[in-house]
Formats: sequence, C-alpha cells, structure tokens
Amino acid sequence: MQIVHSVVRIQQLTRTLPKPVVLVPTMGALHEGHLALVNHAKKLAGRKGSTVVSIFVNPTQFGPREDYREYPRPFSRDCLLLRKKGCQLLFAPTAAEMYRPDASVVVSESQLTTVMCGLSRPGHFTGVCTVVTKLFHLVQPDIAVFGEKDFQQLAILRRMVRDLNLAVEIVGHPTVREPDGLALSSRNVFLTAEERLQAPLLQQALCDAEKRLRMRSISRLALENLIRRRIEQGALAKVDYVAVVDPETLQPKEPKERPLLLATAVFFGATRLIDNILVK
Ligand code: AMP
Repeated sequence: MQIVHSVVRIQQLTRTLPKPVVLVPTMGALHEGHLALVNHAKKLAGRKGSTVVSIFVNPTQFGPREDYREYPRPFSRDCLLLRKKGCQLLFAPTAAEMYRPDASVVVSESQLTTVMCGLSRPGHFTGVCTVVTKLFHLVQPDIAVFGEKDFQQLAILRRMVRDLNLAVEIVGHPTVREPDGLALSSRNVFLTAEERLQAPLLQQALCDAEKRLRMRSISRLALENLIRRRIEQGALAKVDYVAVVDPETLQPKEPKERPLLLATAVFFGATRLIDNILVK
C-alpha cells in the first residue's frame, strides 16, 4: 500500500490510477464499519480498478467546543488494518497541506443542513462538503463510498454531487454494529463503562419505534416522543434531537408514509452519538 501525504503527489498519482477509482473518505481510528466500506469499495473497483482510502481529521468540520484535538489518531494501526484489507493507496494529508491559512472558499448546502445535526453543529456540513469536494478533486474517483450511519451527511453529499454536476457516483453502505446493536463509531472509545451500557438504547428505541409504527397508526410527534422517552430510560442519556423525516429531503414526514427515516442524536457526557433506521 502506497501512503501519500502530499497534495501535489496525490494529484500526480491519481492521473495514473487504473479505473474505476473508488474512494473511501475517513477520519481514521478505523473500525469494522470503516473496513466494511473498504471491502465494498474493493468489490466496486473489481480486480482492475483502484481502492483509495483517505484519512484526514478535518478541522473545518469541528465546532470550537468539539473534540478536534482529542479525536483519536492511531495512524500506524490504521495503516496496518488497511494493508491487511488490500487497500492500494492511502492519502493522509496534514491540515496544513489541505488548507492555506487564508483559505476563503467553501462549499455549502443550504436546505438539508438546516435540520437535525445541522442545527446542533453549525458549520459542520460546510466543513464536510468542502473537504469532500477537495478530496474528489484530488483523487478524481469514479465512485465514493459513505456509511448510512451518517445518513444526513450521505443525503447532503448526494445533493452536492447532483447540484454541482460532479462526475462521481455516491454509494451508501449499511451501518455496522456491535453485537448489542450500538453503531460502531470512533467516538465510542470516549464512553465510560456505564455510558457504554446505556448506549445501545439509541438503536433499541429506533427499532421499538419501527415495530410500533408497523402495528397501528401513530402521529409523528407521538412517535418522536416515544423514541425520546425510551432513550431517556438511560439515566446518562441527554437527547439532542429525534427526527421522523423523509430520507431524501429530511423534512418532517408522517409515519404512515414511506420511505421514512427515524434518526436521533444523543449526548452521553461530552460524547455525541448518532443513529438512524430507514423504514422502507
Ligand atoms: P468517519 O471516520 O467517522 O468520518 O467515517 C468515515 C466513513 O465511515 C463515513 O462515510 C461514515 O459514515 C462511515 N462509518 C462510520 N461508522 C460506520 C459504521 N458503524 N457503519 C458503517 N459505516 C460507518
């Protein structure tokens, strides 16, 4: 596996990569969720194509009071895991390599970012759209793979690609979970033992809600309340939001309609977890 840190070098290299080029953007601290994305990327690339992974803890998507400094960066371990997976090229730039100190151009989406995580994390998705656009320009992928765990991010990036006519196909991958249902996340390491015990409540509450809405009709507000109350059975859980929305527009939607996205964000101390279920 070739490891490239420089922007100029990746631009030279990507001109020569066998196609299709499939990119998996990550912030590192890789777990089985990321590795499932890499596996999928390898399948999409086929024997002739190229699988590229990027590791970049993007400062512009973190708010001033968020965990940019503390975010785990086990780079050598990540390299080992990617080598074992058969990843061909790893792009791992520094922040200084990616952003000029006086960088003044961003990519921002104006509708899907006004709800859910966009409300609690102002500027986050502009950071995501900007860095993903830069990665697309640098790597020139034919396909890019993203996880459905970050469902809003996926919806926003699909919209970005549509509205800016970017020549890349966005592919979503289902959420990989712990045996008790907790979605794998690089942030799970920040949970205390007691918080970790309560964290599967996100998934349980969403699954219970899905069962409930399939049984008998229920209003959106009642369903959101049901999910919130179930999560708050965990004494350490502080619900940030519960959303019952259309998976494409992210606008509120009544539970009898399909498809439907049930999504939540929950604080355990300073650690913010997200999860969702798509009801088809
Ligand atoms: P991150 O490193 O957290 O920015 O995530 C990089 C990519 O991995 C994003 O597309 C995430 O949606 C995806 N991802 C993170 N956790 C999971 C998971 N548990 N299952 C599937 N994909 C995931």
